[in-house]
Amino acid sequence: MKVGIPKEMKNNESRVGMTPAGVFELVKNNHTVYVQSGAGNGSGFLNIDYQQAGAIVLDTIGQVYAMSDMIVKVKEPVKEEYAYVQRGQIVFTYFHFASSEVLTEAMIDRKGVCIAYETVEDEDGSLPLLTPMSEVAGRMAIQQGAKYLEKPEKGRGVLLGGVPGVAPGRVLVLGAGVVGIQAAKMAAGLGAHVTILDINMKRLRYVNDVMPSHVVTEFSNEFNIRKHIKDHDLIVGGILLKGAKAPKIITRDMLKDMRPGTVIVDVAVDQGGCVETTRPTTHENPVYIIDDVVHYCVTNMPGAVPHTSTMALTNVTLPYVVKLANMGWEQACQKDASLQKGLNIVKGKVICKEILEAFKWQA
Ligand code: NAD
Repeated sequence: MKVGIPKEMKNNESRVGMTPAGVFELVKNNHTVYVQSGAGNGSGFLNIDYQQAGAIVLDTIGQVYAMSDMIVKVKEPVKEEYAYVQRGQIVFTYFHFASSEVLTEAMIDRKGVCIAYETVEDEDGSLPLLTPMSEVAGRMAIQQGAKYLEKPEKGRGVLLGGVPGVAPGRVLVLGAGVVGIQAAKMAAGLGAHVTILDINMKRLRYVNDVMPSHVVTEFSNEFNIRKHIKDHDLIVGGILLKGAKAPKIITRDMLKDMRPGTVIVDVAVDQGGCVETTRPTTHENPVYIIDDVVHYCVTNMPGAVPHTSTMALTNVTLPYVVKLANMGWEQACQKDASLQKGLNIVKGKVICKEILEAFKWQA
């Protein structure tokens, strides 16, 4: 199969759909890989790296789409990209169709085979192509939180690890899912005291089993949240109710109970946030302050570390890419129930019921 890797056109997106290691694997399986010139620059992969792995570098995005049976990328196509998608061409990427009727209609018109990373689902209901981005965001939450706790950034002026003779900083993690566990692990590694809250006892038991004793689990309820916000320096929001908006478990009135310079990193901002005062921010302008509490609410945190994020993403997408290239989409999806769930639009027909429901369309 001919596989194409275009340069991402979305604003501020430096990730790329495949690393040179991915190219090497596909070429080993007798496939041809076309990479748009400069596609990997933002992630630290140069044309020469792709060429040495066996790719053919093409000058323009138009050439990459025109010559490929399958396009592998990161973000949904932007408007300028719609017309490149060809009838029957596989496009494997994050689409988030339910949030854009315009994109959905465009992909229906183009009659491609759209397989969405975010709906590939394992038997246990987990989303294997979303997990690595939560891992990145969870770890970054502590890095960013530590920075904004510094006084020049308007934080409390607390060093998370403390020093001999001075108690470490205190980190409150809301949610013991992928984001929460990675955040707790990073904070614990710095020597901070960590309190982690969840409503799922299985998650809390797991955290209690695997984390050191300075990571303390407690059940998530309003009483415990009100108690802990008073004496924690950094609060990380990592909660998720699948398919729903995040519940606002930190309300506006609670801010006055926090100490001035407390930092909130609300990772759940992409689902509306779990803090009432959360509003989406960008890497250019990541924080704002309300009631002396610093809010960091960047919606695409992994975008700041594209080198790591690209590798984390392509580690999990590559096995599916190889399967699609070796068998073609029909056979690959027939044989792999997780991949089958990724099929969203096939040659003009929407086959994912969540998209139909989102726009109140008939099947
Ligand atoms: P996850 O499903 O692994 O974990 C969510 C956890 O929240 C679960 O353990 C659940 O039991 C818990 N929870 C639900 N309600 C709760 C409550 N009231 N109190 C405490 N815990 C509660 O999800 P995840 O992969 O960790 O993702 C968390 C959020 O981070 C999602 O909204 C996701 O979209 C977001 N995210 C954002 C970025 C970004 O760049 N901002 C990047 C990746 C993920």
